[in-house]
Amino acid sequence: MKIHIDIDCFFVSATRILHPELENKPVAIGGRSDTKIFNKDAKKQTVNFENSGSFVPTFYKAYEESDDDLDAFKDENGKVRGILTTSSYEARATGVKTTMRIDEALRLCPNLIIKAPNMTHYQKLSHELHEFLSSKIPLVEQASIDEFYGDLSGWVEDQDIPNFIKELKDEIKRVVKLPVSIGAAKTRYIAKLATTAAKPFGCKIIQPSQLHDFIKEIPAAEFAGIGKSMKARLNSAQIHTLGELVHRRGTVESWGPYAKDLYQRVSGLSDAPIQTQTKRKSIGISRTIEPLFCRDELKRRVHVLARHLSFAILKLEVIPTVFHLSIHYEMNQKSHKNISLSEIFTEKKFHSICIDLLEQADIQKRLHVIRVSINCSSFTRDSRKELSLIGFNDDKKMQSLTKESQKIREKYGLDILKWGSEL
Ligand SMILES: [Mg+2]
Repeated sequence: MKIHIDIDCFFVSATRILHPELENKPVAIGGRSDTKIFNKDAKKQTVNFENSGSFVPTFYKAYEESDDDLDAFKDENGKVRGILTTSSYEARATGVKTTMRIDEALRLCPNLIIKAPNMTHYQKLSHELHEFLSSKIPLVEQASIDEFYGDLSGWVEDQDIPNFIKELKDEIKRVVKLPVSIGAAKTRYIAKLATTAAKPFGCKIIQPSQLHDFIKEIPAAEFAGIGKSMKARLNSAQIHTLGELVHRRGTVESWGPYAKDLYQRVSGLSDAPIQTQTKRKSIGISRTIEPLFCRDELKRRVHVLARHLSFAILKLEVIPTVFHLSIHYEMNQKSHKNISLSEIFTEKKFHSICIDLLEQADIQKRLHVIRVSINCSSFTRDSRKELSLIGFNDDKKMQSLTKESQKIREKYGLDILKWGSEL
């Protein structure tokens, strides 16, 4: 399945990290109407720390420390200018909307707290979330400053997706401190629609069998890719909802290739791959488990995690040289171990590394284990120069075996090949 992750009222949530006193209050972020970054069509927005000058309104800097930055939006005559770029759910409850004029919003919600934007802070958080997601999911695409897509196929079994995305959402809140909503579906387009339905701070999965019921009442314009002119065209054909759209295949498809493609996307029949843009630095896998005492069973589970992680590493075509395993025990006890090894990556070797790490890290043998994580980092390229020569030729043989297993798994699923020690 594909997932879509969207930060809930991002700029407000980001501001609340710096100003926790704004939690549960109606807050909005003001902005200049010409800032490209707010444009929903501005896909492929890159996060750039060094060259963010054009986005950073230094003019507002002086106001950052005050409770309310309303003064920053007053002109020389004291008139409030500017529009809102983000508003909190508390503000939305009073009728305040994004892109509303600030003075209008203040009439609707007199106790609305207006904050100035802080692009550097937003970009830093966006980058942090991207890094975090990349360490959890093999394929992550950043679609905008607060939106990401991920591909879970071959990584998380369909029946485990509800738990996986709920845990991911809670972990993002814990680690990056941002509330997000997550949608999951067979295609990225439907996953995005699911996220909208999951908001705020929720998760929603749309199974293929639920698709038609789910989209039935959704206004056509809410679908990414239906702009003003397409909306007008649909309306003139008496099509107002996505449900109506899928029932009028002939009409829609007669409008040409774009409409034809749109029809496929809305009906969940076409998809586009997840495109990763940045170089990842690490990849890991972790699972919270029912308190487990039996070490043989623990070992078996580490094998399973290693097999999954190995699949992802091979899919990414990277060679990790640092391996890290951590154990969380009951009673808040933790332990971890890591080793570095500059050798060709093979699945067999990786399994024994993980088991070695487990044996070394497991120092509280009288305690139950509640979570295991494995993380691989410091990637290098597949070259003799960078890798140790010891066993290089044997490793090459093992590598081709690993590659064969990978092909089989990509075709038939991750569980088709298991290690003897897992059974
Ligand atoms: Mg958002």
